[in-house]
Amino acid sequence: MKSLWNEQEAAQFQGDVAQRVYTSRLLGREPALVMHGGGNTSVKSQVTNIFGEKESVLFVKGSGWDLETIEAAGFAPCRMDHLLRLATLETLSDPQMAVELRKSLTDVGAPAPSVEAILHAILPARFVDHTHADAILTVTNSPRGEERIREIFGDRLVVIPYVMPGFKLARLCAELYPKQAGPRTVGMLLMNHGLFSFGDTAKVAYERMVELVTEAEDYLARHGALGQNARRGARLAPATRAPIADIAQLRRAVSDAAGVPMILSVHGDEAALEFARRPDVRKITQQGPATPDHVIRTKRIPLVGRDVTAYGAAYRRYFAEHGNASLTMLDPAPRVILDQDLGLCTVGRTAKDAAIVEDIYRHTMDIIANATALGGWIALPPRDIFEVEYWDLEQAKLRKSGAPPAFAGEVALVTGAASGIGKACVASFLAQGAAVVGVDVSAAVVDLHKRRDYLGIACDLTIESQISAVLERAVNAFGGLDMLILNAGIFPKSALVAALSSDTWRTTMSINLDANLVLLRECHALLRLSMRGGRVVIVGSKNVAAPGPGAAAYSASKAALHQLARVAALEWGEDRIRINTLHPNAVFDTGIWTPEVLAARAASYNMSVEEYKTNNVLKVEVSSQDVARLAAELCGPLFAKTTGAQIPVDGGNIRVI
Ligand code: ZN
Repeated sequence: MKSLWNEQEAAQFQGDVAQRVYTSRLLGREPALVMHGGGNTSVKSQVTNIFGEKESVLFVKGSGWDLETIEAAGFAPCRMDHLLRLATLETLSDPQMAVELRKSLTDVGAPAPSVEAILHAILPARFVDHTHADAILTVTNSPRGEERIREIFGDRLVVIPYVMPGFKLARLCAELYPKQAGPRTVGMLLMNHGLFSFGDTAKVAYERMVELVTEAEDYLARHGALGQNARRGARLAPATRAPIADIAQLRRAVSDAAGVPMILSVHGDEAALEFARRPDVRKITQQGPATPDHVIRTKRIPLVGRDVTAYGAAYRRYFAEHGNASLTMLDPAPRVILDQDLGLCTVGRTAKDAAIVEDIYRHTMDIIANATALGGWIALPPRDIFEVEYWDLEQAKLRKSGAPPAFAGEVALVTGAASGIGKACVASFLAQGAAVVGVDVSAAVVDLHKRRDYLGIACDLTIESQISAVLERAVNAFGGLDMLILNAGIFPKSALVAALSSDTWRTTMSINLDANLVLLRECHALLRLSMRGGRVVIVGSKNVAAPGPGAAAYSASKAALHQLARVAALEWGEDRIRINTLHPNAVFDTGIWTPEVLAARAASYNMSVEEYKTNNVLKVEVSSQDVARLAAELCGPLFAKTTGAQIPVDGGNIRVI
């Protein structure tokens, strides 16, 4: 591991807190040092209060901030004397400690201080860095761990035996540190937990962390215990390609166990498959977490015909900071599933949560594989795991969390997602908490959103093999499909029937009708596995009820699609799949309606643009967002008992009414 310190960059960060921000970000950039929510940093400084007096303050990482992206506002200023007095108390429950940490703040708007704030306060150096580095955990969690630590670091580290994070640990460190520390001390190691380094400048503390971890890495390398699991690399061909319905079935089983819909992501890359296919995978993975941060529960779930090792990997900070996890905290659903065919499957209440579990477990796989090579993997005693699980502080935080969004844990697929109504639908479903797959013939769909709950795929829906590829990627990303929004369509150039070319007719039918049949057919097996019942929204058209001259191909294709949807509604009711159709009209905020086109059309009716846009019974303008919101509503509980319906969203049309 190399120091990322750069003098020029560092010079742009003036002052204690700014320097603290800079090296915290450097730590955050090194995944072998800190994962999501893991690790924290501090600096001891002074602030002037309203009375003009100087106060000694510990600026410590606040909860909810990631080291990689932290700002000055992410550090909570705690009065040092308050923290140091807390460390002298005989006992303090963890919820009480959280309250006291808040009381120590000099700024009431600051984030909640890290639960490890007292640990930072008692260390007698200005800058303190703390990580749960992979290499350190690999050594501490192998046989003769403490002996090996002494062998590597000699008397440069104070070594604290394992205690659950919280007040008890702070108290123990306050007691043991002064007894063990000597002139050569540069850090403090917490067995089975992580490492503290410190110094009088941000650079010294940071570079010591890098050096100490590098020494542990070198030790592992000398003992053939580094890089023992394959790197995350090219995707291997699965031994037997799992049908997507199998993955959806697995997600359903996990969701049923959790009691709520869950996102399941499949990672079939080399590192994941190699680990999942180890002959000793059951033995090494069923022993508990890498650190108290990692895991809560172990449980296997049965899946017919497939060797599944389910491994509950939940994560204290993940639960604390992802509020809606209260149900999953207490449920028996696994967070990680290792499967010989699929590789690594990670589960979360949202796609982001599943991605965090993935990051954590990739580190866990490396640590376990390396520690196994070092002589064996030793996890924490079961009692400690239990304490982590029911850690009252975390429980207290969880109780404060609000209700999850309507579509949390669910997956929606939107066609024609790059623009207009489809684009608005993507935003609408994302806003309601769904993971969304956006599909469009335009490549713009790929980068429509940069977030882990969005997957954009460019695809020609008239080619069946491309639809299969879309569904395979969608199911591997999120585990299944709950909602399908069939929006893609074309409006061909106006042509009277007497002059309508066969090509125009066929092209219109192939996109507006045939592609939707294929999508419905191929999605059926997925939708019927949706925990709350599958939902399909068809974006129809006013033209179904009120066609216009010159639009025969479009009107006929939409009418046929509408009839297809009605038959599907009849056939799929027993599978709890609801299919409803929206009929928008005169939605002008889409790609085809440029200001010029709009002005020309308005002029041809002798209307102003404003009159033309609101030419309906209610005299209102209908936007893409209006249609998209209604599409989401149709998938929600309000319409739980409605199927086969047609709902206009057109401001009222005299020919339709
Ligand atoms: Zn820690």
